[in-house]
Amino acid sequence: MKEARNQSNSEDRWRKKFLDSQAELNLKEKEWFETEKLLRLLISRLSMIVSTQDSALINMLHDLRKSLREGADILSNHKRVKTISERIIQLEGTEQKAIKSNSELEEHEYLQIRIVSELIIELLEKVEFPVEFTTRVDDVKAILSRNNGLAELKTTTEAIIALGDMLQSIFTTMQQDKAKLEMYLQHLNGELASLDEGLKASSMLQTDKAHADESINMRVESEVLEMENSITMLVDIDGLKSAVKERLDAIRIHMENFKHQEQERNQQAVKLNAQLAKQLQRMEHECNVLKKQVIEKHKQTLSDALTGIRNRMAYDECIMGEIERFRRYGRPMSLIVFDLDNFKWVNDTYGHSVGDKTLQFIAGVLAKSIRSVDFLARYGGEEFVIILPELALTEAKQAADKICNAVARSEFKINGNNICITLSGGVAQIRKTDNSDSIFERADAALYLAKESGRNRCETE
Ligand code: GH3
Ligand code: MG
Ligand code: MG
Repeated sequence: MKEARNQSNSEDRWRKKFLDSQAELNLKEKEWFETEKLLRLLISRLSMIVSTQDSALINMLHDLRKSLREGADILSNHKRVKTISERIIQLEGTEQKAIKSNSELEEHEYLQIRIVSELIIELLEKVEFPVEFTTRVDDVKAILSRNNGLAELKTTTEAIIALGDMLQSIFTTMQQDKAKLEMYLQHLNGELASLDEGLKASSMLQTDKAHADESINMRVESEVLEMENSITMLVDIDGLKSAVKERLDAIRIHMENFKHQEQERNQQAVKLNAQLAKQLQRMEHECNVLKKQVIEKHKQTLSDALTGIRNRMAYDECIMGEIERFRRYGRPMSLIVFDLDNFKWVNDTYGHSVGDKTLQFIAGVLAKSIRSVDFLARYGGEEFVIILPELALTEAKQAADKICNAVARSEFKINGNNICITLSGGVAQIRKTDNSDSIFERADAALYLAKESGRNRCETE
């Protein structure tokens, strides 16, 4: 936003500079036109003015000379100049006279020669002549300012007449210069517009370039300022051209440097981007690994290391959830607690590791015997629990018997010999007043009953 404003400011400034220069040229031309008109008129009507008896014209010439001496310029005396011109033309018809010889001049005519000479000097002083004409103009001024009108009337008159011719060629030269300068300013305007375009394009580029932009803007601004000064100071077109070219070259160098820095900044940004992308990828990978580890760890904390099925902690979590669900929806749910029969004997007879293998084997049988919606866990030691959602006591008892039979029928071999492993189970159905302990206690009590009743069987609460 700021850049755009700067650029449009810079464009506006150039447009203004261009228009100002044109206006200045037009003003100079107008000034010249007025001066030249009056000087030519004074010169061509010199003889008539010198010998005129017209006091009004002489007074007007006096006034104009006075005003110019007091510092006024020709344009501000435009009205006076016009009146004098008209007066001279008006008198032309009535007072046509040839230039007299020195001896024929009358006293008042010497005075009028002085007035006209001084007026011409004043006019010449007011005008800024092109350098190539200044010597000739100075010569004329020197002749006119010699206060011996009578002795040098002829020289003075000739000098003034020569000045008239010179004025015409100055005027032509000025017009040519004006046309050249106008063309050059057009060209310059185009150059600056393309520079501004370059600046705009560069400013589209990224990141921390606000600072760089400000700096390049300041540099271009300062060059432009220098250029403006040159245009104001220099009158000759070649000087102006070389001054402007110098400034434009400097701007170009600044722009090149700026572009170079921009490229470097871009490259750095691309490099940094790639580095960041790589780092991000690495972190993403690490994060995924960690996530997997956390999931695995969580799984481990809820799994039984020996059998691979869920452990006591997982059971605690699950039963709490089931109690919550029952309290909200009132759907039936039952719990079976299984305990291996005479497991101590297995350990004692075959050793602890066979005991472990037995536990693993039985866990497998249990897992295969339940439904996918049921929940199986090793409660501890040789005890297992199964949660049966949606089953009331009777159906739960049937499921428990079925599981019990499946274990009893399973063939577990040790050293090639079949060993019969059985278990006993106690079943309880959830009640409104239950918490996790109370339902377990009732199922455990039923289990005790099953053990009491001979094992390898299930009892309900
Ligand atoms: P009952 O039919 O009355 O349940 O008899 P039992 O022998 O199964 O009961 P008891 O509680 O007297 O013995 C349980 C045995 O289970 C004792 C213990 O050493 C064994 N046991 C518990 N946890 C493990 C285990 O992780 N691995 C092995 N090998 N044995 C275990
Ligand atoms: Mg036990
Ligand atoms: Mg037991």
